[in-house]
Amino acid sequence: TRRVFSGVQPSGNLHLGNYLGAVKRFVEMQEQDFETIYCMVDLHAITVWQEPKALTAAIRELAAAFMACGLDPTKSILFNQSQVPAHTQLAWIFNCVARMGWMNRMTQFKEKSGKNAEASSLGLYAYPSLMAADILVYHATHVPVGEDQKQHLELTRDIAIKFNNDYDCPGFFPETEPIIEGAATRVMSLRDGSKKMSKSDPSDLSRINLIDDADAIAKKIRKAKTDPEPLPTAAAGLEGRPEARNLVGVYAALSGESVDQVLGEWGGRMFGEFKPALADLAVEMIAPIAGRMRDYLADPAEIDRILGDGADRANAIAQPILEATYDHVGLLRSR
Ligand code: ATP
Ligand code: MG
Repeated sequence: TRRVFSGVQPSGNLHLGNYLGAVKRFVEMQEQDFETIYCMVDLHAITVWQEPKALTAAIRELAAAFMACGLDPTKSILFNQSQVPAHTQLAWIFNCVARMGWMNRMTQFKEKSGKNAEASSLGLYAYPSLMAADILVYHATHVPVGEDQKQHLELTRDIAIKFNNDYDCPGFFPETEPIIEGAATRVMSLRDGSKKMSKSDPSDLSRINLIDDADAIAKKIRKAKTDPEPLPTAAAGLEGRPEARNLVGVYAALSGESVDQVLGEWGGRMFGEFKPALADLAVEMIAPIAGRMRDYLADPAEIDRILGDGADRANAIAQPILEATYDHVGLLRSR
């Protein structure tokens, strides 16, 4: 089987980068010949502080956003990570397989811990090991993610290879393939073309949230940082112009065109003309999601039921793989 797993943290509102880099692909893969499992990774979210009540609300909001974007609980397994204990059980084993040296190279930890690595949680450091467990506890073969997760996917393969090798079980864990596709695999902050758009960026103007209304979307695009030059006529002309590259990439991803097609139409024109067109396109594609999200959120009990049902189905796949793993490791179980 071709099995897809991916996750998103319930650490605030989903944004345009999450949508174009990840969730849009989740929906496409759901409609193809894949078994699809999509997770709200709440245990990843608490690697940095989350207010408990806000976390519970964020999990339901993320579930609503997933469905508003087109994920269908009758076609995909949708659940929150903490309801399937096999993730953390396998993560412990992977903590004992992964090497400190591997973890020390992870750029996401360096970015998120900033200058104060000593004060970061141990969980933030071990994050990639839990992520490898999320994927491999389902023997997932394909993982759609944004460009920023490429290094963690490489580590996931390294863990799978080392486990299969150490415990002499060739092919037990698959070498998972990242799916990093589209014109916007790394959407940048609207305020700073050198930083990725992020849920955790303190500036709300830096991102377009999926919950934003039409006015907020248009305003954020109007205020987006750009340079004073006209748009180039070919993709090579975006070299050294991160803000221009970002907005053109977003336009291409939203319109379904290639970057060169967008520049064929817009090359030589100024951002004063391009931005309103981009704003119209973003409003057309993104604003309806917020309305559907609110509809789902009106019935939280139904969301909880869907996540519970998803967790049961996920658990039925994960549990036998976890047990086979324990057998490979030699952990005695009496029942
Ligand atoms: P945080 O800042 O809390 O880490 P995040 O915005 O990075 O939040 P995640 O939940 O960590 O969101 O990532 C969910 C998915 O969205 C991942 O597949 C990730 O690669 C993708 N993603 C995140 N940011 C972007 C972005 N700016 N452009 C494209 N894809 C992105
Ligand atoms: Mg992230």
